[in-house]
Amino acid sequence: MSEEEYNNELLDKVKGLIPSDAGASSVEFEGPDVAVYVDNIPAIYKDESTIRGISAAVKKRLIIRSMPNKLMEPEEALEKIKALIPPDAGVQPEGIRFSPEFSEVYIEALKPGLVIGKGGSTLMQIIRETRWVPRVLRQPTMNSDVIKGVRQLMFKESTFRKKFLGGLGRKINRMGAKSEWVKATALGGFKEVGRSSLLIETNRSKILIDCGIMPEPGIRGGDANNGGENKAYPYLDSMNVTINDLDAVILTHAHMDHMGFIPYLFKFGYTGPVYCTPPSRDLAALLLYDYIRLVAKSGGTPLYGEKDVKSMLMHIVPRDYGEVTNVTDEIKLTYHNAGHILGSGTVHLHIGEGMYNIVSTGDMKYGFTRLLNEADTRYPRIDSLFIESTYGGPNDITTNRKQAELDLMNAISGTVKNGGKVLIPLFAVGRSQELMLVLENYMANDPAYKLGCPIYLDGMILEASAIHTAYPEYLRMGIQQRILSNNSPFESEIFEVAKGERGDILDKGPSVILASGGMLNGGAALEYFKGMAEDPKNLVIFVGYNSVNSLGRRIQNKASEIALPGEDGKLSQIKINAQIRTVEGFSGHSDRRQIIDFVRSLRPSPRKIFTMHGEESKCEDLARTLGNIMHTESRSPMNLDTMRFK
Ligand SMILES: [Zn+2]
Repeated sequence: MSEEEYNNELLDKVKGLIPSDAGASSVEFEGPDVAVYVDNIPAIYKDESTIRGISAAVKKRLIIRSMPNKLMEPEEALEKIKALIPPDAGVQPEGIRFSPEFSEVYIEALKPGLVIGKGGSTLMQIIRETRWVPRVLRQPTMNSDVIKGVRQLMFKESTFRKKFLGGLGRKINRMGAKSEWVKATALGGFKEVGRSSLLIETNRSKILIDCGIMPEPGIRGGDANNGGENKAYPYLDSMNVTINDLDAVILTHAHMDHMGFIPYLFKFGYTGPVYCTPPSRDLAALLLYDYIRLVAKSGGTPLYGEKDVKSMLMHIVPRDYGEVTNVTDEIKLTYHNAGHILGSGTVHLHIGEGMYNIVSTGDMKYGFTRLLNEADTRYPRIDSLFIESTYGGPNDITTNRKQAELDLMNAISGTVKNGGKVLIPLFAVGRSQELMLVLENYMANDPAYKLGCPIYLDGMILEASAIHTAYPEYLRMGIQQRILSNNSPFESEIFEVAKGERGDILDKGPSVILASGGMLNGGAALEYFKGMAEDPKNLVIFVGYNSVNSLGRRIQNKASEIALPGEDGKLSQIKINAQIRTVEGFSGHSDRRQIIDFVRSLRPSPRKIFTMHGEESKCEDLARTLGNIMHTESRSPMNLDTMRFK
């Protein structure tokens, strides 16, 4: 049997199972799923269980659509749809768009629930009357240029997407003998933080989990071919595979140290899929375009251009938590909530029919945050666990959360009362939103902490927050409900958007400034720092991770003077008289206790444990500790180590 016949066999099987009155005219692969185009779409929905039954029989997700010649003319359909959707759903006139390639109509609404209707009743009515299948998208409550841009790109490139997904589906559904072995190779982010990448191989499949860069100053641009030596990029050149042998790239979350190298793969000819959650896709667009701008601005050569990022976005196959997806014929991927940032997922891989199961945590938080639920601990099976160790060292026990919040608020209000300014440098995605929630909560509920001064937001924080409002279902219930009821904490009146000159803000009286540029390696935060460092009344608060060589770490370690390039590009000495504080307890990473709790709570327990994503001593210590506690094999591999599992 040829590969072609093998593929068609599955499609024919689906076709045969579709009820005859629905009239299946065409069945095709669409990435990991199967799309069925029928002549009479209402017939298939007569019995709810029909699609579920077929789906279970072929172990594929089914997407049901109308044959293009059965669709109502878009102008007429538009009027029908407008009439069916209740006005308070918040659908803009340009929010309804038809995609003939997919026989779908995209409806963007502030309240998707009202477009869907009770039990999907409004959607069904749209299908019955127009034959178009609606796809409902949530409009963020704040303006988001990134979401607009990404959605526009997907819509504009429908023809490309259809072709790409069709080809991908045929590759996933492949014939051949079963795999006999499984191995994993550490390509980056082992005994270090940054450039995370793990290659999973069988004799039939090759998959990368994450592909990041080292987010350090000075080595972010430049030549990728000597990546190994200057520690900036993963050791991809050591793989016995070329970029195009890769079946898939699986992204755990949208931080540069996990995804910053993916566009480079596209620049060098990768044409396969990138799996991630829908919010990760939007956050990736935000951060990757910004990375290019930042490197170019600082006089460096970005590793790749905007067209490579665009190429990556067009190859993304978004998957929600809990959706089981065949990334190759023998490897199934499922994301579980990782609690680290919006859309972050732990990766569960099921290889072969029950042959081997791997969980890689990416970055994860197993503890309370105001923004997200804590990481999931339930998996079907875990043979090997790869776990992050950022704060896995013996001394990495953070203050309890309540105390951390009080420390933060006291430090801020003390400085403000004293006539000083407070700068909090933050990663735009994650910690920023967490800190906004803390400030908003104390200001609203405790008169003692009414600061009486502006709280400025500068840099990408605003756009990152806007993206959060498009995915409330990924957030903790209380925040979700506030966004859904038009009371989003990110739009609270206590926050002011920094407009115009940063100097103006520095010239005015006391204020709190939340600025992006987490480790002070550039961005808005560094600009403020230059203007604030010399005044002893001012306060700089670190709440997140500062990598070993970052400016943030040097300042945190009480450097009294630093040289920084001024506006003319020349270095000038800046005296640091401002107070410097580190308030722990807000991290999006688990501290040591939380990591141990997480591993103990895992059901089922992992048989083998590998630590990663931490400084060398922390990875080693954590591996020893977890091995002792769990009575299991546990170790900390180095980059380039290969582990054979089967
Ligand atoms: Zn991260």
